[in-house]
Amino acid sequence: SSIAPGSDFKSLEEALKHYFGYDQFRVGQRPVIEAALQRQDLMVVMPTGGGKSLCFQLPGLLLPGLTVVISPLIALMQDQVTTLQVNDIPATFLNSSIDAATARQRISEIYSGKIKLLYVAPERLLNESFLNLLDQVQAQVGLAAFAVDEAHCVSEWGHDFRPEYRRLAEVRQRYTQVPVYALTATATERVRQDIIQQLQLRQPFVHVASFNRPNLYYEVRPKSRQVYADLYREIRQHGQDSGIVYCLSRREVNEISARLQADGISALPYHAGMSDSARTLNQERFIRDDVQVMVATVAFGMGIDKPDVRFVIHYNLPRNIEGYYQESGRAGRDGEPSKCLLFFSTKDIHTIEWLIERKADPETGNPLENEQRIARQQLRQVIDYAESTVCRRTVQLGYFGETFAGDCGGCDNCCHPKPVEDWTIPAQKLLSCVARCQERYGMSYVIDVLRGSKNKKVLQRRHDQLSTYGIGKDKTVDQWRLLGRTLLHQGLVTETTDGYPVLKLNELSWEVLRHQRSVFVPVPVAPTQDRPNAR
Ligand code: ADP
Ligand code: ZN
Repeated sequence: SSIAPGSDFKSLEEALKHYFGYDQFRVGQRPVIEAALQRQDLMVVMPTGGGKSLCFQLPGLLLPGLTVVISPLIALMQDQVTTLQVNDIPATFLNSSIDAATARQRISEIYSGKIKLLYVAPERLLNESFLNLLDQVQAQVGLAAFAVDEAHCVSEWGHDFRPEYRRLAEVRQRYTQVPVYALTATATERVRQDIIQQLQLRQPFVHVASFNRPNLYYEVRPKSRQVYADLYREIRQHGQDSGIVYCLSRREVNEISARLQADGISALPYHAGMSDSARTLNQERFIRDDVQVMVATVAFGMGIDKPDVRFVIHYNLPRNIEGYYQESGRAGRDGEPSKCLLFFSTKDIHTIEWLIERKADPETGNPLENEQRIARQQLRQVIDYAESTVCRRTVQLGYFGETFAGDCGGCDNCCHPKPVEDWTIPAQKLLSCVARCQERYGMSYVIDVLRGSKNKKVLQRRHDQLSTYGIGKDKTVDQWRLLGRTLLHQGLVTETTDGYPVLKLNELSWEVLRHQRSVFVPVPVAPTQDRPNAR
């Protein structure tokens, strides 16, 4: 039926078993592969670990001709190809790291049709000698498809824009009959549309998988003073299982990996400040299970296929939800239960805010206002996620435009609902202060007034004369901020989003002020000793 003409297999399942040893397709793979065999363009959006590679590898093996796979990082390419070769799959790669004799050998294997999958970097694809090679391939064995992996790199709206991806459309124009596949784990609608447009896909077969990862357990834990001890215990609980610890700074990566080593945990650092060779070595040792824990900045992990990572711990607040989803998603790619733990502290919020403040044009020194605005909005979403009392999956999937009913049974908020305190009175203080300031200021300013700040602006505006001035000295700034954010999450106050954020009262705010509605705030608790087990 859908098997490629001339194929030796009776069914796609048989081919799957033969080449990859798997018994069945994962959700979505089969229809995508069928479309590929019909020589359609593809747009495949699947979360990391969803099994995108198979969607172009199996058709590549079944279709006549060569499938060219465009993959952004040389290191990844090598890994992927090695894995394929170990499994007797006729794949190879060409890049600057190989010598001339090897390259000649590979090229002759490509011309002979022995090689079915060829991996290349995007910048190489477009150079003249490579295009000549492709012309030859087309003449001798035919081109089956171009598979663009990590296709979100083509979009400025994605989190990893690479200008060289923009030129991939030239390949489409040069080989108009050859299908183009776009594959990515980036889900937002805007990026998807951008990919289709930039790569000039023609009525592609679109598959967008659910981003839910049922085998992952999500937890957000307040960062205590003993956060290192907490981290250490957490890792110990995983026995010898592999895991990743993400930190914000290189310094922290070095410190924590050294400390873990000193405490007898086999850990290695990974960050962009290390030499390429040191990084590759550490990464390989992690993949080979030579070392248990990788302590890394976000530079680590893109496309790394280590299926049995059992935990991903964020020692600091991630900068955005998308990043958090990708990084935490490196756990449990084999479908086995795994844990994603995020340590959260208001101090990290301040650090990231400080970093955002400093975002400036390197040449002029002027602040990059647009980037700052986006970064602040993203930070807000991360804080919302961390402080939310609803199902973690509902929040994450909602971010990707997916509705999730909640009660997932696999997150801290579902399994161990947080204690809440009745903060109706403080909420009334805050909201009446918003009213007294005539709904013209943002959160920080309102808190200044509440706490009786002697800030020049407060005094100039004579807000020290307001009846709400200084009535909030009993709470810290962080407590007021927590309350403010909770009011925003719960829709009990509104914030204008154009330009400078200003607090406005809404219907619900008035209900709170009129004692018609109570306000419950999830209060930070000391880290729990009984840890929910992911298994
Ligand atoms: P992605 O590129 O979407 O992040 P991969 O293609 O690397 O994901 O696949 C993730 C893991 O799932 C790999 O270890 C892969 O071998 C495995 N896998 C893919 N498809 C299947 C399948 N049908 N059955 C079992 N395992 C699969
Ligand atoms: Zn849940």
